[in-house]
Amino acid sequence: MELLRGDNIQKDARMNTTLNTSSSVIKKPSHGHLRQEIQPYDGVLENTIGIKRKSRHPSADDDTYWQRFERKQRLIDACEKHKHSVFGSLDLKFALMKCHQSVSFLSGVPKMNYRFCRQKGCPFCGAYKRFQERRTLLPLINKEVDAGKCLSFITLTIKGDAKESALNARLRLSKVWTKFWSNQNNKQYIEGGYKVIEVVKNNDCYHYHIHLLCVIVEGYTHTTVKSRLGLAWRKAGGGFTTFKRKDKLIQQYSKGAGNLAYELTSYATKENTELDERSWVEIAVAGKGKRDFSYVGTWRALKKEVLETLKEIQSSSETTDLPEFPSPINNKTGEMAYLPDGFYSVVELLKRRRQGCWSSNWALRALDYSMKHSNHPDFLDKLEELSQLMKWNGSFSEYKHNACRIAYI
Ligand SMILES: [Zn+2]
Repeated sequence: MELLRGDNIQKDARMNTTLNTSSSVIKKPSHGHLRQEIQPYDGVLENTIGIKRKSRHPSADDDTYWQRFERKQRLIDACEKHKHSVFGSLDLKFALMKCHQSVSFLSGVPKMNYRFCRQKGCPFCGAYKRFQERRTLLPLINKEVDAGKCLSFITLTIKGDAKESALNARLRLSKVWTKFWSNQNNKQYIEGGYKVIEVVKNNDCYHYHIHLLCVIVEGYTHTTVKSRLGLAWRKAGGGFTTFKRKDKLIQQYSKGAGNLAYELTSYATKENTELDERSWVEIAVAGKGKRDFSYVGTWRALKKEVLETLKEIQSSSETTDLPEFPSPINNKTGEMAYLPDGFYSVVELLKRRRQGCWSSNWALRALDYSMKHSNHPDFLDKLEELSQLMKWNGSFSEYKHNACRIAYI
């Protein structure tokens, strides 16, 4: 067992920063088109932009929140299982294995360990990436609709080929896109936009396709663009296309922009439960290291503006109060949270919690709390309080140094 390797601590710290900064982005109505409320990321994306909201906000007490970690473990196992038939699945497996979240106990002293792989194929990190995409995209859509621009939601497909691997289908789509987009005649209709690569599998075919949400250049009607670009896409080697005008719909329906942003950013790495295991691995491997989301035309500069503004809002917002650390004392039995010495992964803790283990439940909540708040200036004070509370159980001299860093098993 190797603990706390220096080089990775730094990486982890950066990742913590990224994860935690998101939770301090606070709505400031004065910032023009950033008017949409941006909810803190809690790992459950449906709640981040206020749509498909469940009646209760999922939290560390909910299994749904932790199931992403179980899914990650399933993907790791599937990569191992299909290592001979899917080239590159071992690379993905090792990348995913760097995503580590656990709680260890030593003589009753708990320690929260975590680091994130930042792979988009990772059920947890991928979800976070999509949340970040949405955070930037939503204000952009609103800005353009407010300016009275014509927005079109274009789908560009290629013909399916049952014998083709996911990787080859993806490459073929990229080639058609490059041919299409390098043609200045086609570019003249589009001012700026957001492009997403998505895949569905049916009839043994990987159907990779592009969704392009774009602003139509003033002077062209939606119908003109539809027929000209549809033809141009087929000329470049593509298949059928659809064009849907969206700006009017967004103006009429208050959640329109949010729904659209959600739809666009849920695509690329969505956890498709209907996929068989091997296809899941193949798609994840085919997308590893490749970009699923990109901005085109004027939206590239606009995106940077939005990011700057979000940063400003973040740095100008006052630090919010840090909630209390989940209490390690069971208020029914008065017992202190305790697990026998060892490392407990999220999957293991979740299993124990389902069997009614209160301490495992506490460990999950403590881990969640640490992942969300370790960047807060008062975090160490909270840890100190925790150590005071649990003191009779063991020595805490090491605790502060080790808390919230990485552990390798
Ligand atoms: Zn990950």
